[in-house]
Amino acid sequence: MTKDQFLTRLLSRRRALLAGAAAVGAAGTAGLFAAGTGDTPKRPVLPAAAPPARRPLKPSAYRLQPLTGYGPPRAAPRRTLVRHEPLLKVSGRGRTMVLTFDDGPDPRYTPDILDTLAEYDVRAMFFVCGEMAVGNKDLLTRMSDEGHTVGNHTWSHPLLTRLSRGRIRSEMERTCDVIEEAYGERPQWFRAPYGAWNRAAFQLGAELGMEPLAWTVDTLDWTAPAARTIVGRVENGAAPGVVVLSHDAGGDRSQSVRALRDYLPQLLDSGYHITVPRRHYA
Ligand SMILES: [Zn+2]
Repeated sequence: MTKDQFLTRLLSRRRALLAGAAAVGAAGTAGLFAAGTGDTPKRPVLPAAAPPARRPLKPSAYRLQPLTGYGPPRAAPRRTLVRHEPLLKVSGRGRTMVLTFDDGPDPRYTPDILDTLAEYDVRAMFFVCGEMAVGNKDLLTRMSDEGHTVGNHTWSHPLLTRLSRGRIRSEMERTCDVIEEAYGERPQWFRAPYGAWNRAAFQLGAELGMEPLAWTVDTLDWTAPAARTIVGRVENGAAPGVVVLSHDAGGDRSQSVRALRDYLPQLLDSGYHITVPRRHYA
């Protein structure tokens, strides 16, 4: 099967999911382009990207800067680097791992996941879709209250490589807006649906102040394996800096919920520190 045929199948699957009343927010597919899932990822060769243009300061804001001469003010806002590939893992001291949950929030599964994380006093990342977040703002507020990190996973989970720059921007911006409204902050992290990144996604993500984060270990939970299979994949993949991909929406995620109850205490017993990345790690 060629890559194009594979992508077409993904899109068909997505359409089929959207046709179902309950099915919103399709599951991601592992390692299509950039995720480190074992095989050498097929990564498009991207030309070097120009740094984003510095946004001109509003006159009123400029007046607040100390006038020490000409040139840019000293406290210029920190810019986000335009990357050519997403981050696949995090760096840090010791046995640190990151758990990520995509495509939600879904009131059927996300609260259970949050309960388990709370039980073990662990923080995780949720890459939410705007179309799911807009009807479940209470769950984003809970994520904020409980110290989790919310990232941007686009509005409607499209294959970005097939969209115009304007559509990609709209998918990202609308999602940033709903996250800010419900979570209280704009997201600092972005993850492309299906792991399918392109230059526009990297550039626009950086313009919106977001770092691209992929994953190291894919639990393939969207294929609805038994919970013990998901547990096995996490345990086999566990290593310092690993980012684990799971889903809290996009289908029946009860196995993902059950698996977390099993592998989370095991990771902690093995000495892993489960945390969320900080931007300076990047
Ligand atoms: Zn996804």
